[in-house]
Amino acid sequence: MAGQIEPIQRMAAQLARLPGIGQKTAQRLAYHIVSLPEDQVRELSAAIWQGKKAVRFCKVCGNYTEDELCPICASEERHNGQICVVRDPRDVAALERMQDYRGVYHVLGGTLSPMNGVGPNDIRIRELLARLSHEEVDEVILATNPDIEGEATATYIARLIKPLGVRVTRIAHGVPVGSDLEYADEVTLSKALEGRREV
Ligand SMILES: [Zn+2]
Repeated sequence: MAGQIEPIQRMAAQLARLPGIGQKTAQRLAYHIVSLPEDQVRELSAAIWQGKKAVRFCKVCGNYTEDELCPICASEERHNGQICVVRDPRDVAALERMQDYRGVYHVLGGTLSPMNGVGPNDIRIRELLARLSHEEVDEVILATNPDIEGEATATYIARLIKPLGVRVTRIAHGVPVGSDLEYADEVTLSKALEGRREV
């Protein structure tokens, strides 16, 4: 098509694969990047690539980290007997923003979704059970999203853990049903955590 500059289209096509970036925005960003000084573009691409290479999973909780353990697992103070179970590292970031929760996390890396072929062995449930057998845990707080998959995952995990004699709670529905934990504000999250109930 006339007027389409192939390298810019290629860049835009990649940008459009990112979440929240539509075709138009991708197009605008690609043109903008081309117009930037070379240094700045190099810094941008280096930050993306280095960020990707430097980050790995915490070997205990599954959160993102630069070291073997994430800063939360590495902190003595955070081992207070509570484990908060979430879907992904973005949820840890959201809950940490409210600065109320003082326990540790367990990141599942997904939620059960039979429709998409995600079963109990595809998310980190086995690792959670292993932690319960060698860490001192009084309470497991199920903080998966309040949508169908999040609820199903919480119910599934609760059934597995309750027989072990560990207190299992579910965050309250202060978080709007069907929404993402990640987008809830700190007050809503705080209330959801405070109002958690035994399951
Ligand atoms: Zn960790």
